[in-house]
Order: sequence, then C-alpha cells, then structure tokens
Amino acid sequence: MRLDKISIRWKICFFFVLFSAVMLMLLWLFQTVFLESFYKGIKTRNIQSCAQSIVDNINNSELQSLVDEIAQQNDICVRIVNSKYQDLYSAEVAPDCIIHRLPAMMLYQFYHKALENEDTVLEITSKMTLLEELFPKNTEKTPPFSDGHFQGDPPPADKARSQSMIYGRVVTRSNGAQVMVLLNSTITPVNSTVETLRIQLVIVTGILLALSVALSLLISRKISRPIIKINDSAKELAKGKYDTRFEAKGYREIGELNDTLNFAAGELSKVEQLRRELIANISHDLRTPLTMITGYSEMMRDIPGENTPENVQIIIDEANHLSNLVTDLLDLSKLQSGTQSLSLEDFNLTASIRNILKRYSKLTRQDGYHIRFESEMDVYVRADEIKISQVVYNLINNAINYAGADKAVTLRQRVLEAAVRVEVTDNGGGIDPELLPYIWDRYYKVDKAHRREVVGTGLGLSIVKTVLELHGANYGVISEKGAGSTFWFELKTLQF
Ligand code: ADP
Repeated sequence: MRLDKISIRWKICFFFVLFSAVMLMLLWLFQTVFLESFYKGIKTRNIQSCAQSIVDNINNSELQSLVDEIAQQNDICVRIVNSKYQDLYSAEVAPDCIIHRLPAMMLYQFYHKALENEDTVLEITSKMTLLEELFPKNTEKTPPFSDGHFQGDPPPADKARSQSMIYGRVVTRSNGAQVMVLLNSTITPVNSTVETLRIQLVIVTGILLALSVALSLLISRKISRPIIKINDSAKELAKGKYDTRFEAKGYREIGELNDTLNFAAGELSKVEQLRRELIANISHDLRTPLTMITGYSEMMRDIPGENTPENVQIIIDEANHLSNLVTDLLDLSKLQSGTQSLSLEDFNLTASIRNILKRYSKLTRQDGYHIRFESEMDVYVRADEIKISQVVYNLINNAINYAGADKAVTLRQRVLEAAVRVEVTDNGGGIDPELLPYIWDRYYKVDKAHRREVVGTGLGLSIVKTVLELHGANYGVISEKGAGSTFWFELKTLQF
C-alpha cells in the first residue's frame, strides 16, 4: 500500500507507536546493556577527580583533613605512601578496602605500574581474585595474618563478587620526595540491579505500549474525525448542494477551514444563483425586443397603413437595445477575462465628461431631463479615456433610468488634494441599504420584475466596478431608500 493512501488516523497511530518503541529501545539499551560501562565510567571519572584534588594539595599542611573529607564524601579509601611504602596519610572508609591490606609486594607492584601509567586506573579486581593471585597455593588456608595482610573470615559471597577499582599516581612533593597516592573505590556488581531493572522494564514496556496505542488512537481520532467530517460535507458540496454547512469542530485550523469552506460554499451558491438569473434575464432581455421587432414588422407587412416612420423607429430602438446588450456582455467578459489591458494616457477628464454630456442633449430637450455638471476647473488624469468614459456613461445612464419625478441628474467634479472625485447624483428612489453590496454584481437588478421603461442590462455597474478596479481607483455609492443616490469614484490627478 502506498504511504499517501493510508488514512491520517493510522498514520498518526503508526508514528506514535514507533516513537514509543524507539524510546523503549533506548531505555532498554541504556538501562541494561550499557549500564555497567556507564557505571564504571562514572566511577573512573570520580576517582580521577578525587586523585587530582589530592595531587593539587600534596604540599598542603592540611592534607590529612582534606584526604579525610574526600574519602568521606566520595566513599573512597585513600592511602599516601612514600617511596619506602610507609604510610604518610590515610583514610579508610570502607571496611573491605583492599589498599589498606596490601602486602608490601603488591604495593611495590602498584608503585611501578603507577610510574608507568599516568592518570589511569591501575586495576579493577575483586578481593578473591587478588587473594588467589597472591597466594595461589594457599587457597584452603587463610593467608598469613599480620598487619597489612588480609585477615578475618572469608568475605560473604556477594561481597566477594564486589570489585574494587584501584588508582595510583606517583607525584613529587616540594621537598623532592616521591609519594604515591593510592585510591580505592568499591564497584558494586550491577548484575542484580540489571535483573531488577529488566523485570521492571518488561512491565513498563507493556504499560507504555498499551498506553501509547490507546493514546495514539484517541489523538488520531480527535484529529482525523473533523477532517473526515469536512471531507463528507465537501463531497456533498461537490454534488451541487450549495446549502451544505461545514460544522466540524476540534481545533483552530479546522475552525478556520470551516469558515473558508462555508465562505466558498456561499460564493458558489451566489454564482449558481447568478447563473440562473443570468439565463432568465438574458432570455427575457433578448425575447422582449425580438417579440417587439417581430410584432411590429408583421404588423407593418400585413396592415398597409402601419408602415410609419414611428413604427420603424421602434424596430430600430429595439434592435439597438439588443445590440447594446450584446456589447455590454462582450465588454464585461473581455474585461473580466483579463484579455483587455488599459491603454493609459494623459487626458482632460473635465472635457471628456462635457463631451459625454453632449450626447444627452437630445434626451434633455425631448424628455425634460435636467443634467447639470458642476466643475471648478479642468482636471487632467492618467487613465484609459475610453473606459473611464464608459464608467461615466453607465453612471449617468443609471441616474437617468432611476431618476425621480424631478428628472434631475447632477454631476460634480471635486478637486481633492491629489485626486479628483466625480459624483453622479439623482433624486430617485434610492437603494435599500441591505441591497447596496449586491448592485455591483453581474446581472444584479434590484427590481427583479422588469419594467420596460427602465432599460438596463444588469451589467452597467459591474463594468463600472471592473474598470475602476483595473485603474486601482476608489469608488462607491451613497444612497438612502427614497432619497436618491450618489455614485462616486476618484482618480489620481496629474500634477503640473
Ligand atoms: P441595470 O442595467 O439594471 O441598471 P446596473 O448594473 O447598472 O444594471 O445596476 C444594478 C442595479 O443597481 C440596478 O438594477 C438598480 O436596481 C440599481 N441601481 C443602479 N443605479 C441606481 C440608481 N442611480 N438609483 C437607484 N438604483 C440604482
């Protein structure tokens, strides 16, 4: 099975158990296999550092008390002898200390070993071995008992197994005399300890493995469950159920993923709704003029007196409306697909707006609209003139389409610090505050039921938004239901 096919749950479980196993293995290794060498290493370092402190103070008049202190603190026997093997200083803390019972012959041997090997442990031996080495033929007899020799009962069995680490170092004192510092520390056999540890480790291993399996299952469940839940919801979403909610709980990342997916689902459902509305709108928008064109043409063909210029004008108007719709659609799709880039140039925005307003002169004359333009001075901007004209044109169109009974539309050009603000105001019905965020969406129309007198494609503001965003311009709308609307945008002015 490929690793990426394994579920997150088993993966977490696997790594957790692996981790525990490695930990346990390390524990086993250190507690059983390496225990003895560790222990000996520590003892060696200890005996060496004690010897060093004694050697450093070899000329000290307080040496005896120092030797006593070191011996007590470290459980180490100390003996300092001169070159004639006579004791100068001595401290005996362990009852079965070897160095205090060495025959002169052994002392001589150690003295020479110490001279040869600087700062090393001379011997690790047990008392029994030493006895056998010293008195190979006297094993059934106790060795000769005199001062400085082994005496007393033979040591008990486990004591006999305990080893001694003997360390010796020859130094020259300030008076020129050579002395040997001899130290002895007891090494308790670790075998029995290892045995105890092993039994304990078996139990600990069992408990730990069981615990780690249980814990890893629990943790992996906690982590994987919300993911599985989210995945299930996502599958629902993929099937087209846009009302799917993502509600998996557990931890922060899952919470954030929920929010993201809920947002995405919301956006998807919006797109879906828009798509449906678009089909309905477009088919409606296409059908109405087509019906009119067909109706009028048939009427003109069949009824001789109806072939009037007015009727032809209606046909032309409807055809124009169709053409506008198609142009808007093409413009928007071009703008939004990013195939159209801006052709920036410096131009007189004020003059450009005045030019646009000329196109409305017929409208103002015939239909009684009042379009006012307020500007203090001519302002130059760097922008795409054709596209900005389209923005102004769309905003004026909307203002006229949704104007109030006074049929008044006001354009204001305000010069700000480094920008120019263009406002298009009407006194019409205004827009519901709740609907304000949606009017910039494609095909969005507040008034779903189409009124013939209000001709719109539902694309105007969407084009405005896309163009202004391409320019990086600020834009917005201030509107109140029943109190008219002001659409505005700002462009950076050119400084001369
Ligand atoms: P339309 O072609 O329908 O006007 P737009 O994208 O230009 O499409 O506008 C979207 C919607 O915003 C319109 O249907 C209308 O409801 C609302 N709207 C736009 N401009 C105005 C305005 N000046 N006054 C009131 N409502 C407006």
